[in-house]
Amino acid sequence: RAPFDPRDPLGIDDLFDAEELAVRDTVRRFCAERVTPHVAEWFESGELPVVRELAVELGRIGAFGMHLEGYGCAGASAVQYGLACLEFEACDSGLRSLVSVQGSLAMFAIHRFGSEEQKDEWLPRMAAGEAIGCFGLTEPDIGSDPASMRTRAKRDGGDWVLNGRKMWITNGSVAAVAVVWAQTDEGVRGFVVPTDTPGFSAPEIRHKMSLRASVTSELVLDDVRLPEAAVLPGVVGMRGPLTCLGEARYGIVWGSIGAARTCLETALGYAGGREQFGRPIAGFQLTQAKFADMALELHKGLLLALHLGRRKDAGTLRPEQVSFGKLNNVREAIEICRTARTILGANGISLEYPVMRHVTNLESVLTYEGTSEMHTLVIGKALTGLDAFR
Ligand code: FAD
Repeated sequence: RAPFDPRDPLGIDDLFDAEELAVRDTVRRFCAERVTPHVAEWFESGELPVVRELAVELGRIGAFGMHLEGYGCAGASAVQYGLACLEFEACDSGLRSLVSVQGSLAMFAIHRFGSEEQKDEWLPRMAAGEAIGCFGLTEPDIGSDPASMRTRAKRDGGDWVLNGRKMWITNGSVAAVAVVWAQTDEGVRGFVVPTDTPGFSAPEIRHKMSLRASVTSELVLDDVRLPEAAVLPGVVGMRGPLTCLGEARYGIVWGSIGAARTCLETALGYAGGREQFGRPIAGFQLTQAKFADMALELHKGLLLALHLGRRKDAGTLRPEQVSFGKLNNVREAIEICRTARTILGANGISLEYPVMRHVTNLESVLTYEGTSEMHTLVIGKALTGLDAFR
């Protein structure tokens, strides 16, 4: 029997094959060398100053669209992609968001629903990190109910003309290409919008207290004129954006576990060294109860992520099952990170430690890609057959 490993108390590593572990190690090394030393500084300044250089480096390790086939993408499995998301988010949720939005939202939309010309034009550059993408669905007045979106695309001769505003768009200000969803006379359609198109602008949203090491923007579409070739030909209706969201949510199921892991490990290290009343705080029963509960939820969450990943690789994963994973793992990850914060006492609120950064980041993760309430309603509907959304 292998000795007990506090980092892997249930021996879950044995459930991954060598290739999966190799992907995990590559991403872990990249984060440790390239991002972790700087991320608290970026978070504090509320900027991602090297986002373009970082994107190229992420492209080099095959992180963008890694679970897609062809067009310069790595063609990795769902579990490999999940492990990569876990390691990115163990570093910072902003880094995982950059990767998720690029690969699972913008690239996936073009890969799944785009024309051959759109794929050839954008996917190889996006996979290489030379072109950053964003995904515009949410609007200032429209969030959980995106089918009510107000952004509109009208035909004008052979062209499309887009008007509207999108809000809270990750990567918006640094994107070369935006996948924008708009109402048309035919239903909701997706448009591939080069961000240098006249009438398009993407002012950055400031004063965020969460995901500060991530670019978040408004998209303004003011008579943006696009050729017929800009529309995604493969889908009409809400199935388009919702299919993409399912992909990104899957990454969050894994990623949130990474944030929780970092906080648990930080708290364990801290509690072993910090003494009060003449002994390490790790030795107090109340602290140990916290650690036991944190470890239970962390490793249950990891097993759930792996189960959903295996189903995704087998082609049997259902959207409701992704909702189980997103709701549970983000909720438990926040709880783990907040508990870790208490173990660090006052130091828990300092950026000298990663814990508070993860706590505040996860507030965004709880809300985006479907709020926890929306996933609760998805599961409620699946269980009862009754729709409680409206
Ligand atoms: P609302 O929909 O207004 O919801 C407010 C509250 O009401 C929530 O608690 C919600 O659960 C609850 N509520 C709403 N309807 C119901 C109901 N029927 N029953 C019960 N409760 C309900 N969007 C993009 O398109 N692209 C991006 O790249 C992107 N990146 C983001 C990055 C960050 C940092 C953040 C914070 C958000 C991002 N979003 C993005 C937007 C995100 O997807 C939305 O914020 C989310 O869908 C929720 O919408 P909302 O904020 O408008 O909240």
